[in-house]
Amino acid sequence: MSILVLGSGQLARMMSLAAAPIGVEVQAVDVSNHKIVDPVTKLASNHSLDKILQEVDAVTAEFEHIPEDLLATVHASGKLKPSAEAILTGADRVREKTLLEKLKIANCPFDIITNIEQLDAAVEKLGEQLIIKASRDGYDGYGQWRMQNKSELTTLKQTLSKLDLNKVPLVVEKMLNFERELSLVAVRSSEGQLAYYPLAENLHHQGQLHVSIAPATNVDEALNQQAQQIFNKLAESLDYVGVLAVEFFQLGDTLLVNEIAPRVHNSGHWTMQGADTCQFENHIRAVRGLPLGSTKVTSHTAMINIIGCSSFNRDMLSIPGCHLHWYGKNPRKKRKMGHFNLCADSYAELSKSIDRLSEYVPLEFFPMLTDEAARLA
Ligand code: ATP
Ligand code: MG
Ligand code: MG
Repeated sequence: MSILVLGSGQLARMMSLAAAPIGVEVQAVDVSNHKIVDPVTKLASNHSLDKILQEVDAVTAEFEHIPEDLLATVHASGKLKPSAEAILTGADRVREKTLLEKLKIANCPFDIITNIEQLDAAVEKLGEQLIIKASRDGYDGYGQWRMQNKSELTTLKQTLSKLDLNKVPLVVEKMLNFERELSLVAVRSSEGQLAYYPLAENLHHQGQLHVSIAPATNVDEALNQQAQQIFNKLAESLDYVGVLAVEFFQLGDTLLVNEIAPRVHNSGHWTMQGADTCQFENHIRAVRGLPLGSTKVTSHTAMINIIGCSSFNRDMLSIPGCHLHWYGKNPRKKRKMGHFNLCADSYAELSKSIDRLSEYVPLEFFPMLTDEAARLA
């Protein structure tokens, strides 16, 4: 049994590591040059993409920004899961917003602009505090501009007028003052079987995920149901197969969808140690047509991203329940280099472990860690 992943980064790597025990072999394709590589060893194979597409049982993607020609080729093979439509919906904020509106799913108030002069009307409609997002190719907060008040409008227009808004429209969103960010990672099989992980609480810094706490604290059954019903609507409408992540903003008792990710997701990395079956194995199971695994929670877990640094000593592995996942990538500013899963039997124990972690790891990597430890104590 084998699966090809579009993209050869850490998500393909973690899919491969999770697929091995169930006897599924994972290969990856570097989307920039169509080279086939082993996502764990990074060794390249001489096989052509066409040959691999004939051989593999299924194809999936580790990220949504797949070049159009490659997506079309893979779609034509009939083996792509989730579908090209689902991937395109996650890749294009205009499509995404259109689907949310069609399904009447609450989301952040927005406007779509294809001409910089339309920004004035958007300010009138949404107010002067805005987040402006390129409709395609953004991740980790790239391709976004923030406006705090109207005095910034002229400079912002100058910056944005350099973009081709006809080709890549902008989604202008009201900047929300939400209570917190949550995400639901769940999986749907080709027969429509569903399995949900609990909501995770996500802490972002400069538009990038730093920490997830799972299960999120203070989630009542109504909030849980709300999130799962939104997931069901999206997954059914896209006839979705695989893991799908839905990012939410919580305002009072209401969840607004921020965006969706048609793939395994950073806010689901905690499942590698904190759940019975991790998101990577469940994605592989779904895509390969195998029964889904239990999503039962086995630990209170904090997932902490390691961002931008080249290396550090590994003494923190002496903390009970500390697990390191190092991706082996070349360092770059803001690049996700690895993550820790800290596991404990209670939030109070988790808080102590987070405090201990900060003794080993320079705190500038994790600005929110100490606050989080205090909150969970
Ligand atoms: P990802 O890496 O999750 O794909 P992205 O680049 O696609 O990120 P978003 O998820 O749209 O970007 O935004 C990144 C973060 O910016 C959000 O998690 C949130 O913290 C903040 N943000 C985005 N939109 C808004 C908004 N309308 N109001 C307030 N904050 C927002
Ligand atoms: Mg995104
Ligand atoms: Mg996001």
